[in-house]
Amino acid sequence: MKALRLIKPYLVELRLFIAIGLLSLMIVDFLQLMIPRIIKQAVDDLSVFTVGWRTLLIYGFEILLVGILIGCFRYGWRRCLIGTSRRVEEGLRNRLFSHLQTLSPGYFDTVTTGDLMAHATNDLMNIRMAIGMGLVALTDAIVLGSAAVGFMAYIDVRLTIFTLIPAPFVIVGARFFSKRMHRLYGRVQGDFSDLTEAVRERFAGIRLIKAHRRESLETEKVAEVSRRYITSNLALAKILGAFFPMMIFFTNLSSAVVLYLGGKQTITADITPGDFVAFMSYLSLLTWPMMAMGWVSNLIQRGKASLDRLQRIFDTYPDVADIPDARSVGRARGGIEFRNVSFTYGRASGPNGPVLSEIDIHVKPGGILGIVGPPGSGKTTLLSLIPRLYDVKEGGVFLDGHDIRSLKIGELRSNIAFVPQEPFLFAGTIRDNILLNNPNSAVSELVPAAREACLHDTVTSFPKGYDTVVGEKGIILSGGQKQRVALARAFMKEAPLLILDDPISQVDTQTGEAIIQAIRSRSRGKTVIMASHRLSALTFADRIISLKNGRIVESGTHEELIAAGGYYADTYGMQEIEEAFNA
Ligand code: ADP
Repeated sequence: MKALRLIKPYLVELRLFIAIGLLSLMIVDFLQLMIPRIIKQAVDDLSVFTVGWRTLLIYGFEILLVGILIGCFRYGWRRCLIGTSRRVEEGLRNRLFSHLQTLSPGYFDTVTTGDLMAHATNDLMNIRMAIGMGLVALTDAIVLGSAAVGFMAYIDVRLTIFTLIPAPFVIVGARFFSKRMHRLYGRVQGDFSDLTEAVRERFAGIRLIKAHRRESLETEKVAEVSRRYITSNLALAKILGAFFPMMIFFTNLSSAVVLYLGGKQTITADITPGDFVAFMSYLSLLTWPMMAMGWVSNLIQRGKASLDRLQRIFDTYPDVADIPDARSVGRARGGIEFRNVSFTYGRASGPNGPVLSEIDIHVKPGGILGIVGPPGSGKTTLLSLIPRLYDVKEGGVFLDGHDIRSLKIGELRSNIAFVPQEPFLFAGTIRDNILLNNPNSAVSELVPAAREACLHDTVTSFPKGYDTVVGEKGIILSGGQKQRVALARAFMKEAPLLILDDPISQVDTQTGEAIIQAIRSRSRGKTVIMASHRLSALTFADRIISLKNGRIVESGTHEELIAAGGYYADTYGMQEIEEAFNA
């Protein structure tokens, strides 16, 4: 019942459509029931030879008129009821997407994209079917079913009872088969998405496949997935192949009963030949409502299960959210402080112990902090706490003296320009990707930012320049080029805090140096917090911390750390030698 609340607003909003749809459906049912009445009249008239061609023509026109009206009202209910189900699906899909977007990165650590896609396709489809076809099948089962039986009983009660003996088999059979059909439809869909994914992944990795000469192996793997898809399709075909003959068998059984018993009654003149023919027609009209009875409970059960699943997602709240009286930030000065911060990722993922322990950092507004440490030491995690991608539970992070958990998240984030370690590009043009935060900016602003990110010359060497379409995830760009797009994007954002996660990890030494120069000049008056595995990039920092297993093990200026002779000094020395070799 609770889950119904999800669709209630749409049903209330579309109530007029639903009412018109149901009314049209009932009119169609009623008109369908009229046809056997007309045929009965015609046959009865014919059997006593009291009919002229004019009357027959009138009967013919009546049937034609009823046929046209059925067509019109059928269009009406399809538009209204199936339309309603599509509108509800659309509304739920939009709501689902915008709700998922509000959830924190922590949530996405625990679910797979495949799961989310299944909700977005299967669950929404089940709900749509339950509302659209569910409503139609339910109405037809009740209205058309009982009216047809009523009309048959009006002709002859005993004959009706005999005719209905196979009915329970049709209902139970439809229920049995529709359950299996649905399960197989699900499997076919699943196998189809596996197949698409298998092919997509191999095209994405085509270079690797060629380099390792794995073509025939990969062809075999795709063939295997393809085989599974065909096997489940064949299983579905078998079920469908058995279902329809079975249904036809039971309805023919009823026809045989009518033919024999009804025929006898016609001979003994208990019923007229017209009644006999009408009875046959009602029987054929009854087939669909009987099947619908079996089908509808399935449709509704599935729809309800899907609604419950969606409700559980809607009941998930973001871990990171504004507190009720969250404080406005405005433009921050940019002082950042970590006070005794320890951090552990959720239980569902990652290592068991804390990823960060007892971190104390103090960066003054306009200060520059460098972070170094071996891979996995917690650099990225530390940076991600500042824009509150995750919230700390032990200790606190402060912006200009305010605990960031008390600030409005949107305003906090608009004070931060963030360059993540893995730059993500959307499948648009380079221009769109750079102007992500400022779509209306002029070219005059775009070019200097790109120039400082050492990107301008590269871009202008492309035939289409800034209008070059970068493809899925920026596939046509190299890792370093993508990094520079992300950097230009951050330079475009006039924020007092600049956070950079290893921004020169994928560029050559020279470009790296140029980028660091640009960061230095761009960062005048801004607070910069930058992690880098290349230590020479951080020499200009006011202070550098060195992390190991999530703890600060060294801290000081470049000179102090060199003098201390620890991890920093060793790594710096090694990288200098390496760079000298590469130069
Ligand atoms: P670094 O940036 O120094 O390479 P990270 O902050 O990326 O280090 O990772 C620190 C530790 O946290 C690693 O052990 C890593 O496995 C773990 N970790 C990183 N991201 C997640 C996540 N989203 N969920 C769980 N554990 C994570």
